Amino acid sequence: MSDIPTLEDLEQQLGGLSGKRIFVRTDFNVPLAYSDDTTVSITDDFRIRAALPTIEWLTERGANVVCGSHLGRPFADGRTEPNPKYSMGPVRARLAELAPEVELLENLRFNPGETGNSDEFVAQLIAGPDGKRIDGYVNDAFGASHRSHASIVGPPRHVPSAMGRLLEKEVHVLLGLRNKPKHPFVAVLGGAKVSDKIGVIGALLEIVDEIIIGGAMCFTFFAAQGKPVGASLHEPDQIDVCQALMVKATELGKTIHLPDDITGVDAQGNFAQFGSRLGEGSIGYDIGPGSAAAFTDVVMDARMVFWNGPMGMFEDERFESGTRTVAQAMADTKAFTVVGGGDSAAALAKFRLDDEVDHVSTGGGASLELLENGDLPGLKALRND
Ligand code: ADP
Ligand code: MG
Repeated sequence: MSDIPTLEDLEQQLGGLSGKRIFVRTDFNVPLAYSDDTTVSITDDFRIRAALPTIEWLTERGANVVCGSHLGRPFADGRTEPNPKYSMGPVRARLAELAPEVELLENLRFNPGETGNSDEFVAQLIAGPDGKRIDGYVNDAFGASHRSHASIVGPPRHVPSAMGRLLEKEVHVLLGLRNKPKHPFVAVLGGAKVSDKIGVIGALLEIVDEIIIGGAMCFTFFAAQGKPVGASLHEPDQIDVCQALMVKATELGKTIHLPDDITGVDAQGNFAQFGSRLGEGSIGYDIGPGSAAAFTDVVMDARMVFWNGPMGMFEDERFESGTRTVAQAMADTKAFTVVGGGDSAAALAKFRLDDEVDHVSTGGGASLELLENGDLPGLKALRND
């Protein structure tokens, strides 16, 4: 990582920052709540506050800071025009309270050139919104650095560039897990985005000692063991992958922990406890209390834990207890603990345990990809590889 320029390197390269225009790619992809179609509020400004150390470091040295971020998916559902619901207006208002002298561009994804990584859009970013050219570029958007989007990989080809403080911290913590593991190193995986995460398990098996699997992901593993999963969320086309992962784990001498009890609803929709076989029409929404206790033991005995993805549908109080128990174990263990993923971070915050872990990552997909590959497109761009 020492090969990636820091803010200090940028200051030196530009011969000071006073009066310089610096484009800071931030991750202001905050959760929003709509009380009606037009009244929006930010439900959690964690990502805005997380960018302040970088912004303040630059403004204190006299730089003119222009921030840019994506917000949501403005072209989702086959739209041909960006959905105005994802305007940066509410973020701009909050940023104005926290860092008054800073500009914020409109949602970068309003221009299809952002996700399309078009040269024209990169040129537009460098030229500056009002024709005042950018002198330097800072990437502080860890949560978007696994994507080869225009604002992530483009500017370092044209202007002196550096990583911001947040990006630096994230990369330091996550590469520390990958490159200097303390054993036992345990990964706890859950959530709903099964196929994305199954791809990462193979790589994680190489670096961790044990993997705990909860969330909807466990049902694809159950199916791979030939167990009935009822109507639980699972991915039949990933069953072969799960079988191969279990074989790989055995070959490497690693352990995959699956739940042996499940909480959910029966075919009539009534709250129910199951073993690890779910009858027709039954749906598993959480790991059961026995599994939560067993997983707690594994987390307590670990020296490093990386957690991504809630153990169940924790937004519903009936199905929060597996996630709550594992979150409490993360807080109680002496292990070095890192949590990545928007919903996992939201779960920790809901249980008021976010201050009890060592690091809460602002990136879910990015943290998994960095653990898997040891690098990200956004970091490569800063090194000008
Ligand atoms: P993260 O944002 O932390 O990476 P994901 O986005 O992958 O996590 O998944 C979070 C979602 O997974 C939560 O909204 C939760 O309700 C859902 N989830 C977890 N377990 C289940 C389950 N058994 N069935 C359905 N949804 C689940
Ligand atoms: Mg999520």
